[in-house]
Amino acid sequence: MRDNARMQETPTSATRTAWHVLGAGAMGCLWACSLASAGNAVRLLLREPPACGSDASITLIPHPADGLREETLLVPVWLEAARDNAPIARLLACTKAPDLLPALEHIAPRIADGAAVVLLQNGMGFHAAVASLLPRARIFCALSTEGAYREGSLHVRHAGSGETLLGAFPGSAEIGATELVGELGRGFLPVRAVEDIIPALWAKLAVNCAINPLTALHGCSNGELLDRPTLRGEFDALCAEIAAVLAGLGHPGLAATVAADATRVARATAANRSSMRQDLEAGRRSEIGFITGFLCQQAQAAGLPCPLNEALLTAVRQREQAKQA
Ligand code: NAP
Repeated sequence: MRDNARMQETPTSATRTAWHVLGAGAMGCLWACSLASAGNAVRLLLREPPACGSDASITLIPHPADGLREETLLVPVWLEAARDNAPIARLLACTKAPDLLPALEHIAPRIADGAAVVLLQNGMGFHAAVASLLPRARIFCALSTEGAYREGSLHVRHAGSGETLLGAFPGSAEIGATELVGELGRGFLPVRAVEDIIPALWAKLAVNCAINPLTALHGCSNGELLDRPTLRGEFDALCAEIAAVLAGLGHPGLAATVAADATRVARATAANRSSMRQDLEAGRRSEIGFITGFLCQQAQAAGLPCPLNEALLTAVRQREQAKQA
């Protein structure tokens, strides 16, 4: 094992940007490695001061598409406690959605005026709250199809190669995401700027609403939703309700394609265990409140019925509470 070969081709320190990455989980470690591989100074923000000292390495098992020659790499990063006081100019927030606001509240005093804050969480309903919490920061939304999981502390496997879309949260950043893509996309993870990220967030949310709660509650793979007749019936009915809500909320294009989109994703990821299923099985709180919960809130505010989604939201929450009790 040796340090990432790309580290030897890093830009001069004058061209480096310090990136703080919040959350040392699967995505936080993966992105920290990608940013470090491009010569950025990376500071990984932890809840507590690091027990092992600040000078550390992440063990990365890269994906073949990363173009990294080694099977396992040690990527040097700097660990920092959230409660330190050095200012933050670039932040990539990689907690799960329910942890995002509490984590940001802790570090809000450190966020510099005009700082770029990139939110990588799945789901919707937290971006506006972050913009209110950090009114002088520029908030960006990132939507990633990369797949990664933790093999241990500061040890990550890049299991699926994808792409990350980056867009400014409307009203929060006057300039678009192009400037940031130059920094975030310089590593081995591809990043693409989009003019309007909101339709992409809705499209991902709609597919997640169709797949995640059903797989979590039935303990089935994504593909079983299509292949087991009783589950297929539930899946089709849920897609129809999601489509009706989307149409009522003014997203007719998405309403027309959600069933086909969710079917395509379930087929393409047939063997996968959805993240919500993994969370429930591990007794962790899931992101349901920012997926199905957000859809239900929007539907209720618009007077649109969504009984199937409400029932799934309640059932997942009950399952979470039962596991945590
Ligand atoms: P994860 O492995 O659970 O990592 C989240 C990390 O955030 C954990 O290390 C957690 O620490 C840390 N954290 C929580 N609160 C914190 C705080 N106050 N201060 C510092 N650190 C804190 O989750 P993930 O898989 O990386 O997912 C992160 C987000 O990316 C989710 O919204 C997910 O849906 C999305 N996403 C993930 C993938 C993927 O393949 N993993 C792909 C696309 C999108 P503890 O472990 O101590 O709680």
